[in-house]
Amino acid sequence: MRVGMGYDVHRLVEGRKLILGGVEIPHTLGLLGHSDADVLVHAVMDALLGAAALRDIGRHFPDNDPAYEGASSIELLRRVGKMLEERMYLIENIDATVIAQQPKLLPYIDRMVENIADALKLETDQVNVKATTEEGLGFTGNGEGISAHAVCCITKALDYLPDDRTAAGCPGCTGCAGM
Ligand code: MG
Repeated sequence: MRVGMGYDVHRLVEGRKLILGGVEIPHTLGLLGHSDADVLVHAVMDALLGAAALRDIGRHFPDNDPAYEGASSIELLRRVGKMLEERMYLIENIDATVIAQQPKLLPYIDRMVENIADALKLETDQVNVKATTEEGLGFTGNGEGISAHAVCCITKALDYLPDDRTAAGCPGCTGCAGM
């Protein structure tokens, strides 16, 4: 089993949409960023890339690349899921926390979970999203920005095979380890 963690922050400004977990949330302010600035999905992507030792989202989707201007972070998450799939990693679970003083996020959490699970082809019980405030303290507390943390567990698909198969135990077979 491998563990990954991700952390991200975006500034709250006027004139931008507030998108968290792929859900557009009605609010007077939105998050500033090159893409749609979905701070929750960015933290989840960094957790997944970190668990697979694939560096971070800045390396794969540079914020000075016009291709990613206004990009849907859920679409980028789908691509991160493919990167892990190509390397035969299975995602066990994801747990994330959004830290925002306002607005109240509870009504949108279920849709965030569904969007993340759908992008990664997971069941909804493999994805957990929580929201908290920081009691008015710091940059999240005074409404300057929103931050998000995420952790995940992934495993190599081959780890699910019994040792006798990976070591060429089946008659006439060179073993799954030769794949
Ligand atoms: Mg970000």
